[in-house]
Amino acid sequence: MSPASSYRAVKGTRDLLPPESEKFAAVEAAARAVFSSYGYGEIRTPVLESTELFARSVGETTDIVHKEMYTFLDRKGRSLTLRPENTAGVVRAAIERGLERLPRPLRLWYTGEQFRYERPQKGRYREFRQIGAELVGVAGAASDAEVLTMLFDFLRRLGFSQLSVSLNCVPGGQARETFADALRAHVRPQASRLNEDDRRRVEENPLRLFDSKDPETAAILAGAPTTLAFLDADAAAHFAQVKSLLTAAGIPFTESPTLVRGLDYYTVTVFEVISGGLGAQNAILGGGRYDNLFADMGGPALPAVGFAIGEDRLVEVMPHDPRPLRELWYVLPGSSDEFSYALRVADAIRGAHPAAVAETDMSGRGFSKGFARASQILSGDATYPFRVSEVRVVSVGSEERSEQTVKIKTLSSRQEEVLPFAALGVHAMGEKR
Ligand code: AMP
Repeated sequence: MSPASSYRAVKGTRDLLPPESEKFAAVEAAARAVFSSYGYGEIRTPVLESTELFARSVGETTDIVHKEMYTFLDRKGRSLTLRPENTAGVVRAAIERGLERLPRPLRLWYTGEQFRYERPQKGRYREFRQIGAELVGVAGAASDAEVLTMLFDFLRRLGFSQLSVSLNCVPGGQARETFADALRAHVRPQASRLNEDDRRRVEENPLRLFDSKDPETAAILAGAPTTLAFLDADAAAHFAQVKSLLTAAGIPFTESPTLVRGLDYYTVTVFEVISGGLGAQNAILGGGRYDNLFADMGGPALPAVGFAIGEDRLVEVMPHDPRPLRELWYVLPGSSDEFSYALRVADAIRGAHPAAVAETDMSGRGFSKGFARASQILSGDATYPFRVSEVRVVSVGSEERSEQTVKIKTLSSRQEEVLPFAALGVHAMGEKR
């Protein structure tokens, strides 16, 4: 093995190459199109944040902070962490920028890499991507309905039709304490059956027991009190309103009284969407309200709601290919003598057909092999970066070069046409259909 080939991507990370990377780009383009149509602008926050930010927001006793963060000391001894999620960074950025200088309500979306030290498996990576959105500054149920409507708009645009939201309402404030006490009282008599982590959770943060993957814990929780019985009047009214708004908006949901989500900052509404085809890692997105986070982070008390979609999982279960169909103009020089002319031809085509791909064959393989390659792309070459609706082979041989013409063959109809170079930008063959 040569020295270079012994390098491997770090465990749990992966390279995305075309056509896979083009699918991710298409999903992100759809997110941008849908989210911006609701007034959400993109925010990009640093991949590195101070460790303290996540400990304070996501919560010390969560799995994420407790055992999944990539944390290290920099050269000056500061503790930094590769972000395990993006909401904390968004909240930090908004407070740091000065919320009074930002529009209210604040509508932001993001996409980017997140890092968690988990056991890699199908749908679970150590570096993965999330696409999310945050609506800050609106307390009412209409804000929950807006983000869920936008989310479904996006999912439907990608072709999903069978998805349903699992919805719950988690008590906040004093009611959360009462709920935690009731959970403790239920679990304590059976605490000896719990693993060490979960036993610690009983005392420190019993809501986190619902995140446990241990079947023993799940069995003990089966008869435990659930969130809905502990809601105060405001939370109960909010939850009822969210449900009626979702029904009115045609968003399918089911109530899941044990859903709490693995991050401490969630209060009131929490939701998740799961999908088949992913094995155990079946949650494609999660979200909810985080009405206390801004104040907890030292900012003004601003209500907020948001979600994060696992982009890697989404791409794995998408019902169809999200890449747009594009026409390929395959510029094929007869020999290397025609390369310079071919490059000019390709340029003129790009000018006339901005949505198309104009690719110049530089292999020097000549007409017959070049045509074979072009046909292979049209018939669906799985390694080609783009989804191709039609291929037009633009042959430029010595004759075309001396006469400043091109010969265009449309592969599916086998139609052939000779055009003067000057007509390429004007006579847009693609537009005739
Ligand atoms: P969370 O930030 O934990 O609420 O997760 C939101 C979504 O991110 C989940 O529903 C998953 O789709 C995705 N996700 C979380 N962790 C991972 C991971 N390790 N690998 C891939 N996707 C993940």
